[in-house]
This record gives sequence, C-alpha cells and structure tokens, in this order.
Amino acid sequence: MAKDRILIAGAGPVGLLCALSLVKQGIPVTVFEAMDSLKDDPRAATTHPATLELLDTLGLEPYVREHGLVAEIFHFWDRPTGERVALFDHKLLKNDTKFPYVVQCEQFKLSYHLQSLLEKEPLCELLFDHPVSDVTQDENGVTLTCDTPKGPKSFKGSYLIGSDGGRSRVRKAIDVPFEGFTFPERFVVFTTPFDFEANRGFCFRNYIADPDEWCNCFKVAGYAPPGLWRLVFPTDPNQSDEEILSDASAQARLQKFFPLGEPYEIVHRNLYKIHQRVAATFYKGRVVLAGDSAHVNNPIGGMGLNGGIHDAINLGEKLGRVWHGETERLLELYDLQRRTVATEFVQEQTIQNKKRLEAKDPATRAKFLQELREISGDPERARKFMLRSGMFESLRRANEIVLPDAAA
Ligand SMILES: Cc1cc2nc3c(=O)[nH]c(=O)nc-3n(C[C@H](O)[C@H](O)[C@H](O)COP(=O)(O)OP(=O)(O)OC[C@H]3O[C@@H](n4cnc5c(N)ncnc54)[C@H](O)[C@@H]3O)c2cc1C
Repeated sequence: MAKDRILIAGAGPVGLLCALSLVKQGIPVTVFEAMDSLKDDPRAATTHPATLELLDTLGLEPYVREHGLVAEIFHFWDRPTGERVALFDHKLLKNDTKFPYVVQCEQFKLSYHLQSLLEKEPLCELLFDHPVSDVTQDENGVTLTCDTPKGPKSFKGSYLIGSDGGRSRVRKAIDVPFEGFTFPERFVVFTTPFDFEANRGFCFRNYIADPDEWCNCFKVAGYAPPGLWRLVFPTDPNQSDEEILSDASAQARLQKFFPLGEPYEIVHRNLYKIHQRVAATFYKGRVVLAGDSAHVNNPIGGMGLNGGIHDAINLGEKLGRVWHGETERLLELYDLQRRTVATEFVQEQTIQNKKRLEAKDPATRAKFLQELREISGDPERARKFMLRSGMFESLRRANEIVLPDAAA
C-alpha cells in the first residue's frame, strides 16, 4: 500500500531543505506556504563552515559560495577607543574542514535556489497561499487545515514538519510551550552600499563592543557588486517604531557610528523583536518542529538559521528512515540531539555574545577584550574558538547523543 506524503508547513529555508532531503530519498512531500510567493528576506546571511559541510551533502555549497561572499576572517573592535581588538582567520581550520571560511549569502538566495530545484522534482508539491490554520493527528496520520483564498481545505499526510517560523501555528496547534524570554530592546538593521572596508578598514564580518551602543557590521553580496553593508544596533525600548526607523534617527545613528559629512544611502531598514526561546519538545506524535518554530535566538554570532539547517539535515535523514519503515524512536533521537544543542550551545552562546558586546562594567569589558586579544594571538586557542563559533562543536555534541537505553 502506498504511504501518505509527508507534509511540511512553511517554505522558509528550513522547510525547503527538509523537502529536498526527503524527495532525494524517494519520499513524496507537500509544502504549504502562507505567502503568495517567496520574498527577499534580509535576515540571515552568515553561513558557518560546519553548515557548509552539511549543505554540501545535498550539493548546495557551491551555489551558496558563488552567490555569496567568502569571509575568511572576522574582527572584534572596541568602539570607544576605535581599537581593532582581535582578528580571527578561518585558515586555522584548514586541517579540520574542506571549508575554512564563512560564506555571507542572504537566506532568500538559498530559498529561491531550493524552490527552483524542488519545482523540477515530481515528488514535490509546493502550494503557496496555503496558510496552515489547524493540525490534528491520530496513530495513522496527520490532518492539516489551510485557510486558502478559496476557503478552508484539508490535507492528509503520514507526518508533518512544522517549519513555519518563530510564531509557528503548528507548534501552537500541538500545544508545545516556547520556553525562554524576549529582550526589552529591539534590534534595528540598516543596509547601505557605503563601503566600510575601503573607508573604515573593516573586513566582511565585524563585532563592535560598546557599553552605550554596540554594533554588528557585515557585508553581503546583494544582487550585484559592489555589494551591501548591514549594520545592526540595539534600540531604546521607550522609542516607537516610527521614531527608530525615521530618516532623521537612522541618519543620526549612522553618522554617530561613522561620520560621513553627507547622508548615508539606506536601501533597507528593519526592526526586529528579539527572543531567546526553545520549544519544550521538538516532536509530538507525528508532528516534528524544525528551525525557528523550534528555537529562536538573537542574531549576534549568526546561529539561528545555521541551527535550523542543522535541524533540517538531521531530521530529513531520520524522518526518511522512519517513513521507509524504521522505528519512530528516531524522532525521539532527533529531539534529544537538536534540542540539547539548541539549549546548551546556541542559547548559551548567543546570550553570552550579546552580554560581551554590551558590557557596561569597565572591569568586565576590559577582561573580555583582553581575553579576545589573547585567544586571537594564540593559534591553537583561536582554532578552538572558531570550532565553536563555526558550529563544529555543537554538531559534534549533537551527533554524540544516543537514546538513553541505547547507551546502556
Ligand atoms: C536581523 C536578523 C539577522 C539574522 N542573521 C542571521 C545569520 O546571519 N545567520 C543565521 O544563521 N541566522 C540569522 N538570523 C536568523 C534567521 O533569519 C532565522 O533563523 C531563519 O529565517 C529561520 O528559518 P526558518 O525556515 O526556520 O523560518 P522562516 O525563515 O521564518 O520561514 C518560515 C516560513 O513559514 C511561513 N509561514 C508562517 N506561518 C505559516 C503558516 N501558518 N502556514 C504556512 N506557512 C507559514 C512563512 O511565511 C515563512 O515563509 C537572523 C535573524 C534576524 C532577525
């Protein structure tokens, strides 16, 4: 008897990657997307080396590299003194990985590429304008309801992946708490073609510590050279969206950061609420969560989508085996592996990254900056630092986890 399709809610990069992984194993899938098409989404860009290794298993690394910027190094700066405190060079990982670099490739490029690959796959059905509104399940399968422009429609499948983002309808429908907290301040992101490399000596990835207003400054490839620079700043919780995003306030913030004497050209401006949350479980029965629907974190260190890609590759492989008849306990293992590192590693690391950049106490700041100078000056300590920041350590930790009774 033919088995039912696997259903996937959300055509973000994580849902589309799950779909590609499953169709490559001969499994039919339907992807349900709320929007009428994919959009240019100026969020993630930093793709870490461990993630490049995973993307390579699906043949996607060359595309990401060709459509992004290869960033071998990253800098830490101290904003009040203007000192470049540390330089980390991924070349130190040359014996650890085929990919000793980060690639700055916008997430929408990966999504569009995945869409074009999936459209050629007869086993994949991609439905836009299909916002998932409800989910029910029993021991035989899952039923999904979508509120389409033509009215509600129901779909049946063998399993459901909820990859429908941080506000996941699927997570709410299966009643899984999203544990953690939300920062009072939001992060504002400005995108400009102004060249911070030529004019300021920045590399493509810069973390800038400041007790008053830290900043992350990154270059992305955009659609054409010379590319674009994105600057991320914290904002005052008492200011309204309009105030933060107004021209006057945007120009004042950028001019204070690096005075130009003329207005900055700003091509995008976005304001984000920032959460640190992990779902209490990544699966319930036949419904499994992946990507932002399972975990969200602040973007300092660029770990959100990277973690989501690690989920997608891990889950694609395990759910494929379950669909082909292996034990459903593989879903329990997926939960154990990915939820453990989401909590122990990504949450811990990103909260720490933010604390360090914004530290106000002079002694704490001095200690952090001195630590960075020392680590970056010692090749073996720098290599270990990058095995962690490049997400090899979390990947290894996840892969070492086995089911409790299997360890006995
Ligand atoms: C400013 C900023 C910078 C960032 N930078 C980085 C970075 O450099 N590196 C990094 O790793 N991460 C970064 N992130 C995090 C990254 O953007 C997210 O982790 C990533 O988008 C998660 O992908 P996803 O596919 O899980 O979810 P999403 O990208 O949110 O996709 C979810 C999809 O589901 C759809 N959807 C929602 N509800 C429904 C529904 N009811 N039915 C059907 N479809 C639905 C949505 O329309 C969307 O297409 C950044 C985030 C921010 C805010």
